[in-house]
Amino acid sequence: MRALCWDGEQLTLAEDRPAPDPAGLPAGWARLRVRMAGVCSTDLEILRGYMGFTGVPGHELVGEVEAVAPGGDERLLGQRVACEINFACGACPTCRRGLGRHCPTRSVLGILDQDGCFADYVAAPVVNLRAVPDEVSDRQATFTEPLAAAHEILEQVHVQPGSRALVLGDGKLGLLCALTLHAAGAEVTAIGKHPRKLAILERAGLHTRPLAEARGQLTAARDHDLVVEATGSTAGLELAMGAVRPRGTLVLKSTVADSHSLSLAPLVIDEVTVVGSRCGPFGAALSALARGAVDPEPLIDAVYPLSRGLEAIEHARRPGALKILLDPLAE
Ligand SMILES: [Zn+2]
Ligand SMILES: [Zn+2]
Repeated sequence: MRALCWDGEQLTLAEDRPAPDPAGLPAGWARLRVRMAGVCSTDLEILRGYMGFTGVPGHELVGEVEAVAPGGDERLLGQRVACEINFACGACPTCRRGLGRHCPTRSVLGILDQDGCFADYVAAPVVNLRAVPDEVSDRQATFTEPLAAAHEILEQVHVQPGSRALVLGDGKLGLLCALTLHAAGAEVTAIGKHPRKLAILERAGLHTRPLAEARGQLTAARDHDLVVEATGSTAGLELAMGAVRPRGTLVLKSTVADSHSLSLAPLVIDEVTVVGSRCGPFGAALSALARGAVDPEPLIDAVYPLSRGLEAIEHARRPGALKILLDPLAE
């Protein structure tokens, strides 16, 4: 099969990488034909050495179940699915507490010890697969994973209708967080540097402010119940800490960040609740897509056939690029 392969130094398009063999799949696993895959900032970090990963990157996909391991449930064949990216052991104390996304021996699709989806085929445990509703297109369904990460905020924080939320950062995840909080009824202001990206939110009915103009006012007012930090920069974190109200909640969404040297005293003085937030519930994300509560379509900048995968990655690296999709079914 074709696959983008990262050897730790170079990304290449292999034409003859062995596809996962249905007869050799572990019990309970399936082989998916990749229908569409999304390039995420995490992938670009991996291609700079993050996680020390080697193999096939890619973790955002919609696929079709094309084979199941011997003895598996054949009713799954032909189903269109999204795939939860954390492959948990299912048996350890963390997994038994229902925290499989935190299993200490997990592998992670395209990120940790597991070949990902920038390929014609990918293998995954059946328990990780979620059926994609018919009303959700392939293009939309590739956003299930990052949209689930945005919905994790709603699992962790009780967002009341009308609560004042501030989202810092207009990258892909920041935009999805802002759209998700807006759909949950919060009064959202999004702060970013790119007029083109902020315009996507404005068209969806959110308030936006350019960073340069907002900085001083936000910290003077300190009146946001909820602040989501999605810039990954020390300056962003500092601004987030300054904009949250006393007894408010600060959600940290960036895994890629500089090492911060900041005084944490303001968090103590203002009794701010700090929440680290990573992967989230696929069911909530798929239902938001099916209801049309969040439409990720305007975030798509380009779709490339897999044969032009290297070009697609280059495009995703351009400053200000939004979502780049890979389509293995296209010529
Ligand atoms: Zn991602
Ligand atoms: Zn486990």
